[in-house]
Amino acid sequence: APAVFTEAEFYQQSFNPRAYLEEYYSLSDSREWAVVFLKQNLRSLHKMFSLDEVRGDTLIDVGCGPTIYQLLSACEHFQEITALDYTDQNRRELEKWLKNEAGAFDWVPVVKYVCELEGDREKWAEKQEKLRKKVKQVLKCDVTKANPTGPMSLPPADCIVSTLCLEGACKDLPTFRSALRNIGTLVKPGGHLVMVTVLRETYYAFNNQVFSCLSLEKHEVKEAVEAAGFEVKFSEEQPTTVHDDCTNCSGVLSLVARRCPSAN
Ligand code: SAH
Repeated sequence: APAVFTEAEFYQQSFNPRAYLEEYYSLSDSREWAVVFLKQNLRSLHKMFSLDEVRGDTLIDVGCGPTIYQLLSACEHFQEITALDYTDQNRRELEKWLKNEAGAFDWVPVVKYVCELEGDREKWAEKQEKLRKKVKQVLKCDVTKANPTGPMSLPPADCIVSTLCLEGACKDLPTFRSALRNIGTLVKPGGHLVMVTVLRETYYAFNNQVFSCLSLEKHEVKEAVEAAGFEVKFSEEQPTTVHDDCTNCSGVLSLVARRCPSAN
């Protein structure tokens, strides 16, 4: 495990989007635990975005990284999506896929799996097109800033989704709690937060780079979400079993919360 916190600038210097995608999102048989981890998260996202109240026009993905899996169920229920991430190379890698450029990562196996969850595996090409059309912009953000997209201000969205970002971006629990307040300003009062967070993880590694992670318990995440002005509507912890030393997480928390209507 890294002795020090790996800050956003370390992500900018060292996070290799391609290696990350190959390591965690290739659904290849040689990475058995990563396949289980991804499929479990896809099922959770499918379940959370199937909730009747998680609907609207606009969705913001906070800390999108180079990935799209977190938007596959979401894009059926929102019209316009904005994706945010700190690092240039991750936003670039995402744009590559959105523009269907040569050399973009192949998400087809993942898209097919989500279509299967939704009842029709044959719709994968249609879904890819739908998502490509709905993601309108990919912008820089820093979740540790009071206005994460500053100096620009985005109109608050009906929903925000954030997967596997805050626990990596925050050095301690107070920073995690303030990051939730920061990203909370991106969602309208009465709107929703959909989150997937690893629990009890202190590091993850790929491509010979080690990234630090804030070790969180379920109750700490829920309390931070509530303190940021949200009411938790759904939460579910699932165990993870990792068989190699690329990470030490032992659970994943999926959570849906509603921003209090009176928040401002
Ligand atoms: N959401 C993706 C990527 C997670 S990797 C997934 O589910 O796989 C963590 C991401 O957090 C990286 O893309 C990194 O660039 C981003 N990140 C790290 N620090 C950040 C910060 N301070 N503000 C915003 N994003 C940050």
